[in-house]
Amino acid sequence: MDAWVVAHPGPVETRPLERAGLPDPVPGPGELLIRVEVCAVCRTDLHLAEGDLPPRRPRTVPGHEVVGRVAALGPDTAGPPPGSRVGVAWLRSTCGRCRYCLRGAENLCPASAYTGWDADGGYAELLTAPAAYVYPLPEDAPAETLAPLLCAGIIGYRALVRADLPPGGRLGIYGFGASAHLTAQIAIAEGATVHVMTRSAAARELALRLGAASAGGSADPPPEPLDAAILFAPVGDLVPVALAALDRGGTLAVAGIHLTDIPVLNYQRHLFQERALRSVTANTRADGREFLRLASLHHPQVTTTPYSFSAADRALADLAADRVEGAAVLIMDG
Ligand SMILES: [Zn+2]
Ligand SMILES: [Zn+2]
Repeated sequence: MDAWVVAHPGPVETRPLERAGLPDPVPGPGELLIRVEVCAVCRTDLHLAEGDLPPRRPRTVPGHEVVGRVAALGPDTAGPPPGSRVGVAWLRSTCGRCRYCLRGAENLCPASAYTGWDADGGYAELLTAPAAYVYPLPEDAPAETLAPLLCAGIIGYRALVRADLPPGGRLGIYGFGASAHLTAQIAIAEGATVHVMTRSAAARELALRLGAASAGGSADPPPEPLDAAILFAPVGDLVPVALAALDRGGTLAVAGIHLTDIPVLNYQRHLFQERALRSVTANTRADGREFLRLASLHHPQVTTTPYSFSAADRALADLAADRVEGAAVLIMDG
């Protein structure tokens, strides 16, 4: 099969991705073989390509926002049947036995494995995934608008949960890429007032079109204090900025898997009055199911920038340079 692999992790200008012909993968027990229709491009793919997240195995196929169809079932796999439309997301498997798994926090499982990091992902014609970790997807939406829901959407939703936004509250969103634009729409549909802070003028326009109450520069103060904030930009310098923008009792959730160093915080200005700073680590399958339910209820507008499969390296470079509006998606040829 045709695929892209992370050949030489390093700056995106050094072309870390390489196109490769690989043997067709074979589904193991409990696994599905899935033919990829569309794979969305996540910032995590960029972190893996650039080596910010060290590779866990050589020459791994990245990509963990896959919309495809079941092509075959491995041994001892109950379903879904061939032809079913499914989504493959970042969380590939967990142990199901540890203290975290047993208390419903499978996202913290030390034995968790991730699509496109511990196993080959969706920048390919085919991939395998455990049947228990794929999501059934509706037939009535185009694959390119479903794919960004699978990481950008699900992780953004977990960040929103972690930010403890009170009903009807004021939410600040720092950075406005694929994940943020979906999260903002769900929050607005559920009654929040959303203020967006981002360096990109195009993203500020998009935020206002999607119903944000205001859109300012990345470090600008919002027009009112925030009950909750989510930092989507992988920029540690924005942590004190966002904490200072919180009202008493507010919570800042850092959504990314990678963040540059956080500068020294001042207790009075950034944390006192019971402001809280939280990280967000992956997601549970329950988060995924709940987000996909909310998405089918509210129909968030999914802005995508399509790339042909052969332009995967250019898609990553454009993402690195903030040249992508909404989510970049790779469309499989034919
Ligand atoms: Zn576990
Ligand atoms: Zn992702």
